[in-house]
Amino acid sequence: MNQERADTDRVRDVIVVGAGPAGLASAIAAGQAGLDCEVIERGALVNSILHFPTNMVFFTTPELLEIGGLPFVTPNPKPTRDEALRYYRRVTDTYNLDVQFGVEVRTIRREAEGDGTPLLRVETLHQHAGPSRRLTRTAVVAIGAYERPNMLGVPGEDLPHVSHYYGEAHAYYRKRVVIVGGKNSAAEAALELHRAGANVTLLHRHAELGSGIKYWVRPDIENRIKEGSVTAYFNTHIAEIRPTEVTIEHAGEQRVLPADAVFLLTGHHPDTAMLERFGIDVDRETMVPAHDADTYETNLPNLFLAGQVISGIHSGLIFIENGRFHGEMVIKEIARRLARRRDTVHAAADTLG
Ligand SMILES: Cc1cc2nc3c(=O)[nH]c(=O)nc-3n(C[C@H](O)[C@H](O)[C@H](O)COP(=O)(O)OP(=O)(O)OC[C@H]3O[C@@H](n4cnc5c(N)ncnc54)[C@H](O)[C@@H]3O)c2cc1C
Repeated sequence: MNQERADTDRVRDVIVVGAGPAGLASAIAAGQAGLDCEVIERGALVNSILHFPTNMVFFTTPELLEIGGLPFVTPNPKPTRDEALRYYRRVTDTYNLDVQFGVEVRTIRREAEGDGTPLLRVETLHQHAGPSRRLTRTAVVAIGAYERPNMLGVPGEDLPHVSHYYGEAHAYYRKRVVIVGGKNSAAEAALELHRAGANVTLLHRHAELGSGIKYWVRPDIENRIKEGSVTAYFNTHIAEIRPTEVTIEHAGEQRVLPADAVFLLTGHHPDTAMLERFGIDVDRETMVPAHDADTYETNLPNLFLAGQVISGIHSGLIFIENGRFHGEMVIKEIARRLARRRDTVHAAADTLG
């Protein structure tokens, strides 16, 4: 049986939860400020990007994905997923970041140290070694928003041929694939599946595709729809999914379409249950975790946020381009606070002689 292990003799200055771009940027800033920092990641390095569609190309130019000032060198105007994975591995090595993989943070609690100084107790679960706990003066929650897809709540959504994530096309050759969504993810999956020989139907609840579609993807998908090689239904909802067909509601009528596979590519939101387990208040409507707009500190003192987790249901508001700067701001505040605390401890020691 697993025993809870405690790393009691080491109190970190900062524990960062999540090794995505925002968490890594926070850890780099912590190292540069001379703080003792550990990153805890439940999956692999940049686990969200690892699970993006295999052949995806970022809409961002490489320099806007850079963290820690390390150049992102690529001959391509827009980097691929694979190049981004390589880049973030190199960043992690260059800054010698202390990252624990396969360890999930389960809870964070406030705990008073012997001398009355408050610490945070971080309870973790290692995928093989079981539970353990760590103590830290501060923590940065950078858990992103990719792991919780927006559920449509339609019957059949949990069937095995239904997925909220698209990976690659080959397995769908000569299959009838229904895609729900009208943004980049849906448009790009539709094009790739069509080119791999799938019979693709795209369903979107609005009258036209989303405005943020990549400029090189939009004419492609629009032309494929116009020529009829991708079938599209706009102003359409999916009403039910069954093992070999879906029922859709279009123009006030129900219609049944054959479907061997269904992709529901309708966005993501932060894991609010996890945030609440950490003691962070979350707005029920927007799913935005409570935080100070200047320091990103949550309602739990010394517990901060960084990256996409801050954006709640509007996950398109924060991406790597802007979320990569949160860490520096958060660490500046943490470094200031810890320096003040150390000065107080030294002053107290001097007084005692
Ligand atoms: C298909 C696609 C294309 C995109 N293209 C672009 C683009 O071109 N440009 C751009 O700027 N942005 C883009 N984005 C958005 C961008 O990827 C995200 O904004 C970014 O990954 C968010 O970074 P983050 O560090 O906040 O979170 P994430 O990258 O999601 O990282 C969070 C990490 O936390 C870990 N984690 C979660 N919970 C726990 C826990 N309890 N314990 C330990 N670890 C945990 C996760 O495993 C993950 O590794 C794209 C997104 C998608 C889906």
